[in-house]
Amino acid sequence: REHGVDAAEVAGLARPTADPGLVPDPGESAARFRLARWTRAAGDGLPRVLDYRWGRDLLGTDGTSRLSQDLRWGLLSPVEVVTGVLAAEPGPGPGPDSFVAEIAWRDFYAHVLWHDPGSARRATRRAYDLVPWRDDEVAIAAWTGGRTGFPVVDAAMRQLAATGWMHNRARMIVASFLTKDLLVDWRVGEAWFMRHLVDGDPASNNGGWQWAASTGTDAQPYFRVFDPVAQGRRFDPGGVYVRRWVPELAGVPDEYLHAPWTMPDAAQAASRCRIGPDYPAPIVDHRDARRRAIEAFASVRGGQDRHGEPESR
Ligand code: FAD
Repeated sequence: REHGVDAAEVAGLARPTADPGLVPDPGESAARFRLARWTRAAGDGLPRVLDYRWGRDLLGTDGTSRLSQDLRWGLLSPVEVVTGVLAAEPGPGPGPDSFVAEIAWRDFYAHVLWHDPGSARRATRRAYDLVPWRDDEVAIAAWTGGRTGFPVVDAAMRQLAATGWMHNRARMIVASFLTKDLLVDWRVGEAWFMRHLVDGDPASNNGGWQWAASTGTDAQPYFRVFDPVAQGRRFDPGGVYVRRWVPELAGVPDEYLHAPWTMPDAAQAASRCRIGPDYPAPIVDHRDARRRAIEAFASVRGGQDRHGEPESR
């Protein structure tokens, strides 16, 4: 058992079922091809990076570059990527600008870890090491297995298990869910991600987890708790993402898709999705869980804005 992740649970996961075409081709020439597709017109329109600002948050679309594994493993350098993006016709604009800002987050998190290596194991805001995390194996197993009863969370966790990648918006949603709704230590999620991600990067992953858990530098405030239903409705409005990764919900009408437990019995029968036998009931009540998380964080709030002294290298 490492940070609460059980090897037997990992071994018991369903085997990946994704189309192998969803896993990026390895190697430098494949990486260069992906960069070219992102920064040059693909023959059927403008370079895809131009749509990045509005497309990057939509879960069911292909609105991001998919270059993370190439940057992680050094197949592309950030300078090469940024140069390519800034050279995309018709030149700088909201899409390329916000893309470069995301590349800067990658550098930022590398700097945080370099200057405070202790944050690899501890909260960057050290006071938050005192958050009374819950050691709830049942909840952790539901989260890792994509069986929480919250469709957007389950879709994301299954996407990760099947493909080794997860959309950034989905990473934020599942990380908030684990650390706030389930009040489970961010290191449990961080370890699970490192085990599964093709782009698993100690600095960016740690930074992303500590951002979501409100324990990191420049993190979201602890009282900001994503509502998984609202997030699903906003970022997967047509349900493409949820239906792709949680096939048992495929027949659920849009109005119930992100909160299927609210379906009347007749709708459950008609959509062949009975809550309980076919798809789990939600493992927490979001409103209660949110209140519990805020109280837990507030109990150590004294140190909220104090960064710990960086530990020596
Ligand atoms: P794009 O949106 O096309 O972004 C372009 C590049 O910018 C990415 O390839 C990546 O190198 C960088 N980038 C984008 N967003 C971020 C970010 N928030 N932080 C740091 N770099 C970013 N990214 C990793 O590379 N490895 C990780 O292990 C990792 N773990 C994460 C864990 C959590 C909890 C969260 C919230 C985010 C994590 N990210 C991680 C950041 C981000 O989710 C991925 O970089 C992004 O989803 C990769 O897809 P893409 O290449 O299509 O991204």
